[in-house]
Amino acid sequence: MTSENEAGNEAGEAADGRSPGDARDAGADGTRDATPDGTPEPAPDARRDSAAGAAGDAEAGDSDDAADTGEAGAAADAGTAPAAESGGEAAADPGVWDVVVIGAGPAGASAAYAAAGQGRSVLLLERSELPRYKTCGGGIIGLSREALPDGVELPLRDRVNTVTFTMRGRLGRTRRSRRTLFGLVNRAELDARLAEAAQRAGARLRTGVTVARVEQHGPDVPDRRTVAVHLADGEKVLARAVVGADGSAGRTSSHVGVELEQVDLGLEAEIPVPPEVADDWRGRVLIDWGPLPGSYGWVFPKGDTLTVGVISARGDGAATKRYLEEFTARLGLAGFEPSLSSGHLTRCRAHNSPLSRGRVVVCGDAAGLLEPWTREGISYALRSGRLAGEWAVRIAEAQDAVDARRQALNYAFAVKAGLGVEMAVGRRLLAAFERHPAVFHAVLTGFRPAWHMFAKVTQGTTTLGEIVRMHPVAHRTLTLLDRKGALSGSR
Ligand SMILES: Cc1cc2nc3c(=O)[nH]c(=O)nc-3n(C[C@H](O)[C@H](O)[C@H](O)COP(=O)(O)OP(=O)(O)OC[C@H]3O[C@@H](n4cnc5c(N)ncnc54)[C@H](O)[C@@H]3O)c2cc1C
Repeated sequence: MTSENEAGNEAGEAADGRSPGDARDAGADGTRDATPDGTPEPAPDARRDSAAGAAGDAEAGDSDDAADTGEAGAAADAGTAPAAESGGEAAADPGVWDVVVIGAGPAGASAAYAAAGQGRSVLLLERSELPRYKTCGGGIIGLSREALPDGVELPLRDRVNTVTFTMRGRLGRTRRSRRTLFGLVNRAELDARLAEAAQRAGARLRTGVTVARVEQHGPDVPDRRTVAVHLADGEKVLARAVVGADGSAGRTSSHVGVELEQVDLGLEAEIPVPPEVADDWRGRVLIDWGPLPGSYGWVFPKGDTLTVGVISARGDGAATKRYLEEFTARLGLAGFEPSLSSGHLTRCRAHNSPLSRGRVVVCGDAAGLLEPWTREGISYALRSGRLAGEWAVRIAEAQDAVDARRQALNYAFAVKAGLGVEMAVGRRLLAAFERHPAVFHAVLTGFRPAWHMFAKVTQGTTTLGEIVRMHPVAHRTLTLLDRKGALSGSR
């Protein structure tokens, strides 16, 4: 069987790593030339009052239902609440939807927006009621801002121009930028706006509906051009194409067979603080390189609340929790009662992991698309979501399994050519950072060009991949660190 990678490259000559529109422009000929391999389509948040519970649950299980807390609990409850339908100009139920999108986070809303914008009937299914809490720092880098659907204004809680870096609480150094580095949002507010944008584009949003499974073959699937989406209450929804955007513990990820090579545990506390403390943090974030390999902590101010979090490799939830407690105490914030404490797993896909199966494609966290070093995922979700929505339209149009597969492989190629390349650099950076956090700290805080590059990445005027490609010193330094790693045999 042709691997997705091989076929993706082949088809990608037509797609040029871009959207289907580009592929059409560049000559759909190329797409037609891509030789199908003839292979048949393959068969196809409970409330917590402390990060302790969150750490335990998230470590113990795969489900982010167990990991998320607070209002995420409400999200879990919402699965049993009566389904709400919304959307002014939304398409009437066509019987078989062109595209059904599962999950209304940044990836799903972006996919629904892109597919609906092409005049297709699109149904966006979300298990929570919106707005819903999501464990996330809410850091919006320039790439995320640029990938927003048209007309979406960021609900910014703060604009960051100052970063304090510490190394396990020591060697503090503060750097400032004249221009805003990145913005901070509450995810509940951002995600609600993104879902509204999808609705404005014509997508139908249904909240409070949990997808139990998707089925591509079998008695519930009327024909081979259709996918059956089964809801938890027994209802069945039919689609020509499905976009899985149901996050890192979603159903679609396992349906497609996404393979992961990195799983991390993030713990966060939302800490309301008095005005004098809030003033001290306004416009400034803190990043602490942590005691566990590859770990770091952050303080992200959002007006009267500070989001304080840490992330490290999954496997020792107790140590991650200890890091969060010590970090919070060191900053003098332990005396303030968090309004919410939660944990969530982040996952990075293996390089050659599938991104589709039959007429189902996955994007965002569901696809394991995440920056491996910083674990920044919103820009990955928005960008892959848009591509998924665009290519899902082509899959919906496909008359047979071979054509559907070809379009799905074009999607995979587009993702790999862009986000995949960025992730490859992130993996190398994480590997080097795990071994030499002190070098990273010294370079970022003591070497002005490195700080400028950091600033540019957060502002969205460059990417980590571009820096390593374009700057000989960065390229040589990373290669040297790669070699040191290979010699020490630690990775
Ligand atoms: C602690 C932590 C801090 C982070 N900080 C940042 C940051 O500062 N900046 C950044 O860019 N990234 C950050 N990330 C990563 C970022 O949160 C994710 O990458 C991003 O949310 C991915 O978006 P998504 O749309 O793919 O998935 P999600 O945002 O997880 O959305 C998935 C949606 O699917 C719904 N869903 C799930 N299952 C079903 C189902 N069966 N049926 C129907 N609906 C379903 C969920 O309710 C949810 O609304 C952080 C992650 C963590 C864990």
